[in-house]
Amino acid sequence: MHVVVLGGGYAGLTLTRELEKRVPTDANLELTLVNDSPDHLVQHELHRVLRRPELANAITVSLPSVLDRATVRVARVEAIDRERQTIRLSDGTLSYDIAAVCLGAQTATHGLEGVREHAIPFKRLTDAFAVRTRAREALREHDEPQFVVCGAGLSGIQVAGELAALVRERHGSNATAVPSVTLLEQLDTVAPQFDSHFQRAVTAALESAGVTVRTGTAVTRVTPSAVGLESDEQLPAECVVWTGGIRGTDALGRERPTVGPALELDERTFLLGDAARMADAEGEAVPASAQSAIQAAQALAPTIAHLASEDRDASEERNRNSGEKPVLASTSVNFAFDSPGWVVSVGDDAVAQVGSSVLTGRGARLLKIGVRLRYLAAIGATDRAAVLAREEVNHRLPFEFDRES
Ligand SMILES: Cc1cc2nc3c(=O)[nH]c(=O)nc-3n(C[C@H](O)[C@H](O)[C@H](O)COP(=O)(O)OP(=O)(O)OC[C@H]3O[C@@H](n4cnc5c(N)ncnc54)[C@H](O)[C@@H]3O)c2cc1C
Repeated sequence: MHVVVLGGGYAGLTLTRELEKRVPTDANLELTLVNDSPDHLVQHELHRVLRRPELANAITVSLPSVLDRATVRVARVEAIDRERQTIRLSDGTLSYDIAAVCLGAQTATHGLEGVREHAIPFKRLTDAFAVRTRAREALREHDEPQFVVCGAGLSGIQVAGELAALVRERHGSNATAVPSVTLLEQLDTVAPQFDSHFQRAVTAALESAGVTVRTGTAVTRVTPSAVGLESDEQLPAECVVWTGGIRGTDALGRERPTVGPALELDERTFLLGDAARMADAEGEAVPASAQSAIQAAQALAPTIAHLASEDRDASEERNRNSGEKPVLASTSVNFAFDSPGWVVSVGDDAVAQVGSSVLTGRGARLLKIGVRLRYLAAIGATDRAAVLAREEVNHRLPFEFDRES
């Protein structure tokens, strides 16, 4: 049986590693992971590269180094033909018995004028370096450069916090220098998919970091020097970051199809992570996040492992000979998202929600460090976890103790 996992992000890498663990080595399993880069990017730490470019290596994990039995194929997925069970890649085709589509999402510009040309998205390392370069140029060339981040989801919040910290670092210890960073959100609150007490705590943390938070504010266009708002106001901006939404991958016609708890497009093709609009049994949307992508992969793995472990060659062969499509046992995936909480950084600060409690300050910062290290250890990137742990001890902890003792 050939199981193909498309995309080596949170969902794809977690699923592939789970299958390596769960399927007995003597089972008839061929496992292929297709990704457009040889590396897995720890996206939920990407914003940190804005101030600390040296962290780029620590959040880039070579896929072959953390996989054992799977073949890593570095290629771009161009189209999925579910009828023929084939995938068109940039360098050929691949046929599958079971496919799990974990291709993540692309940045949505909603067709707004100037966004593609003048704003920088924030999904890849190249994006983070582009923002860093533009921000530093702006700080060099203007006395009071204006930074605008559009979209106050998990990425926009953390990028705005990091830019504010970058501006403060530039002004040295001059605590009165107010960073000129504005975070725009068209909905009525930051972190729109999260609990209201988390939203309030995140807003407070952003504001105390010097970020101007403007909710209920829709962007209509971006020019080389300003962000145009629905109210006709022109917000001057030397550096605009666009985190204003996501769309589906080109390989799925730019759509994010909705999947329920079974995570299936059909009985042989599964869809999970940001590539899908995942909904729970009540039809409630699950937030697009690393956390939900990982949990969905963990929920799907036992079913695929079960199918792959069964000796179904004989029945498949029989069905093939009779010209019919082999029938797989009905699936039993029942994904129910259960979040233990959330933690975001806001510059050197952090806000965490654990159950119904909200933490800020040292407790939240330590939680964020824990999440970082636990994830890297969970995907087998213990060398990267060690680098980050060393870095936290050398740079963050003495700072924490100085500030709070
Ligand atoms: C700055 C930032 C901060 C964030 N903070 C948090 C946070 O604190 N908590 C949280 O839970 N989430 C956070 N997120 C969101 C989280 O990173 C995403 O929700 C998560 O990455 C989704 O996982 P995924 O596996 O679906 O997709 P991805 O991780 O995006 O993986 C998709 C993979 O598919 C590959 N790929 C894409 N298209 C193709 C193609 N056509 N062919 C081949 N390969 C392809 C990509 O290279 C990638 O490896 C943050 C995101 C950002 C950008």
